[in-house]
Amino acid sequence: MDLVEFQGKQLFARNGVAVPAAGSVCRTQQEIVEAAEQHLGAGASAVVIKAQVKTGGRGKAGGVKLASTVDEAREYASSILGLDIKGHMVHIVYVEPASTIAEEYYLSVMHDRVNKGHLVICSREGGVDIEEVNRTNPDAVVKVSFTPEETADGLSDGAAREIVTAAKLPAEIVDEATELLVQLFAAYRAEDATLLEINPLIRTEDDRVVALDSKVSLDNAAAFRHDDYAEWQLEGLQANDPLEAEAQEKGIQYVKLEGEVGVLGNGAGLVMATLDVVAQNGGRAANFLDVGGGASADAMAQSLGLVLKDPAVKSVFINIFGGITRGEEVANGVIEATKRLGDFPQKLVVRLDGTNAEEGRQLLEEAALPSVVPASTMQEAAATAVRFAAEA
Ligand code: GDP
Ligand code: MN
Repeated sequence: MDLVEFQGKQLFARNGVAVPAAGSVCRTQQEIVEAAEQHLGAGASAVVIKAQVKTGGRGKAGGVKLASTVDEAREYASSILGLDIKGHMVHIVYVEPASTIAEEYYLSVMHDRVNKGHLVICSREGGVDIEEVNRTNPDAVVKVSFTPEETADGLSDGAAREIVTAAKLPAEIVDEATELLVQLFAAYRAEDATLLEINPLIRTEDDRVVALDSKVSLDNAAAFRHDDYAEWQLEGLQANDPLEAEAQEKGIQYVKLEGEVGVLGNGAGLVMATLDVVAQNGGRAANFLDVGGGASADAMAQSLGLVLKDPAVKSVFINIFGGITRGEEVANGVIEATKRLGDFPQKLVVRLDGTNAEEGRQLLEEAALPSVVPASTMQEAAATAVRFAAEA
């Protein structure tokens, strides 16, 4: 589960990680104006108005604005509410007393799956895309991996100090940054987070070190020991990907990936194998969707509809192994779904095997739908789907 920025800052604050003075969570223009009045009236020289969506790059998209008057705040309120940031509609805005920034750094703690441990990343170059810094100036990014044994009692002051020193944070703030990193690591463990990222971590003009932004992912598998996980679920907030959110609502198992071949299968194991076979044929899956045991016409129409909505999908590989669901039911599901969905540009490569596969394939052949291409093996289907995607 991912938190939005203001929730992440609340999580930081309760674990002793320094954040700016608390702001206000707003859902309407009126609430934003009132919050600005309140914070400016209480002595803030400006407020920062920040879109609360579960995606990065809000600043670049116009979702982070500094206002030094109530009128400015009103103007920004109307431009930020309802803004679409990478498919995420802004329904919630955080209004915070603005910080004065002397410098921006980067700091994160995350699961390190490769080394089966924890990874701390620190850079003197923050407030920008850290992947980009890593590409163009890798020396500026300090990465240190720890085993769970090494951090059984938390991250030591010495280890934290080495990291911030290696990242060349200015000498006058090393003590404070060290302390913040130790606390951040403690928060990561106490809250069962998989990622705590601060970008930017700032030095204020009076040399305090403060988390100006937050990105927090919590481990759903640990929800049983955190009653408060449920409290982070906010109304009006989308999951990471709009289609994933839609799938969740419909009870469909759907995961968004980076490639161009839509993958639809029945059963998690078969779907995983399908991803491998797509990769072996030089393609990349755009997503994967498990239609489950049934693969009825209804389930197929809903699932296909979802996969085809993803603009990255250039072709679809439907990989079904008939068990209790017989081949002709699956074929009818595909035919019915295709009819219901009307015109779409992508080709659907269908590999059907298992119970009554022969009958199913025959139905597909007879239907002769222009968008449906039957294939007799998984390998052939993958190669064909990858080729269609490349040609599209
Ligand atoms: P992101 O674009 O989604 O990563 O949102 P951030 O919270 O990181 O804000 C983007 C940028 O806006 C930061 O890197 C800062 O340069 C700027 N910014 C955010 N909050 C403040 C603030 O309180 N004061 C000032 N001066 N700039 C801010
Ligand atoms: Mn940021």
